[in-house]
Formats: sequence, structure tokens, C-alpha cells
Amino acid sequence: MKIDVLTLFPTMFTGVFNESILKRAQEKGAVTFQLVNFREFADNKHQTVDDYPYGGGAGMVLKPQPIFDAVDHLTKQSDHRPRIILLCPQGERYTQKKAEELAKEQHIIFICGHYEGYDERIREHLVTDEISIGDYVLTGGELAAMVVIDSVVRLLPGVLGNEHSPVHDSYSSGLLEHPHYTRPADFRGMKVPDVLLSGNHRLIEEWRQKQSLRRTWLRRPDLLETYELTEQQKKWIEQWEKNKR
Ligand code: SAM
Repeated sequence: MKIDVLTLFPTMFTGVFNESILKRAQEKGAVTFQLVNFREFADNKHQTVDDYPYGGGAGMVLKPQPIFDAVDHLTKQSDHRPRIILLCPQGERYTQKKAEELAKEQHIIFICGHYEGYDERIREHLVTDEISIGDYVLTGGELAAMVVIDSVVRLLPGVLGNEHSPVHDSYSSGLLEHPHYTRPADFRGMKVPDVLLSGNHRLIEEWRQKQSLRRTWLRRPDLLETYELTEQQKKWIEQWEKNKR
């Protein structure tokens, strides 16, 4: 996968791209990153990328020209039709499902905004997707782009040591993940559930499935509205509902 990031603050990405899984993904050849400061594409003497809003009001607006030209340049270099993603608080709310969809792409271009926002023509005529990472407002799109990139790259084949590990992650299965424990079995009197020490793989798997469902039922019941429950899972929930009353 090729990932280009259009940003006015490329150095913000240095630490994130050069540590842990994102670093390993590049070393393994699963992904290449290119940071592009779209100020370099501004066609005016002072390389200005923003301007006052038509109609007046507070804040500056990112001009269309540098961003359109930067995207045209990157698209021409590409063998694949890129996904062009605008980070913005008004976009589609980001989910694991979207990460899985994006992980199938060959080339993604992220556009990080700043200031008051973008000229609307960028939104209407340039991008393929608008993504928000949550219902709050950041100063710029950089942190949002990092969040999306991290969640996509870890899904690329071979990037995580164990190919199967993302499958059980929260949201991937439609449920939150079960609790984890490691040594010691007794820490300051807080004990690991007996079943995990039993060595009985069938019982352990059943415990994990039940905990995963219970956690989702308690913390994120909204996820269960679209989740197809098995007969066993329906029984567990009925039991918990009964005990609640
Ligand atoms: N005035 C804009 C509005 O109300 O929609 C907010 C602009 S915000 C200060 C500047 C930039 O930060 C946005 O253009 C976007 O790139 C980024 N940003 C802010 N919040 C975000 C969020 N929740 N998700 C993704 N990007 C965000």
C-alpha cells in the first residue's frame, strides 16, 4: 500500500511513522509513506495556502489550488486510482469496518486540514471520502490521519506478527474483546479466573466468548443491535437480563 499525506506540518508524523508497527510495516515492504507539504504547490509568490472566507467571518479557509494541484501530482504518479480522504469533523464517523475497507486499497491520499476549514470545492469535487475520528474538534487533521493510518496499516497482511490477532480485536468480530490476564496468577490477592488456569481449551474458549458478549452487552449494547446472536448467546443475555431485574 502507498500512503501519501498532504499536510502543512509533516514533522508531526516523524515519531509515529518511525516506531513500532508502522516502522515494521515499512521495513517489511507492506507500506510506503510520503509526506507532502502542500504549501510547496501554492502558485503564489508567498506560498500562501489560506485566505479570508467569502462573506466574512472568523478564521481562514484553505484555498483549493494548492490541494487540487498536490493531489493531481500524486495521482499522476500512481498506477492505481487513489482513495482521497479528507479528515474533517463533519465526515463519516470512523469505524473498524471502514479500516477493513481501506486496508484493501493500493493507494490512499490523506488531506489534513487546518484553520477554520477547507474551501467547499475540495469536499465536493476532489475527495472520495470524508472521515471524522469522533464528535470533537481537533486543531488539525494530522492526529486524525495518524489514527486512521495506524488502524489500517496494522490490518495489512503480515504486518502484525500473528496473522490472526486482528480477528479477535474489539469491533472486528462485531463485539468487544474478552478480558486478558498474564502472570502472576495472584497479584496482591487479585486472582486470575480459575478457568484460564485449567488448561481446558474448550472451556477457555467458551469463557472468552461469554465475556466478550457480556462486556459488549454491558458497555456497548448498541453494537448488539446489528449483531447476529447465536442461540447460546441469546440464552446468556436472557440470563443476565433476568439477574438484573
Ligand atoms: N470549522 C471546522 C468545523 O467546524 O467543521 C473545524 C476545523 S478544525 C479546527 C481544523 C481541521 O482539523 C479540520 O479541517 C480537520 O482536518 C481537522 N479535524 C478537526 N476535528 C476532526 C475530527 N473530529 N476528525 C477528523 N479531522 C478533524
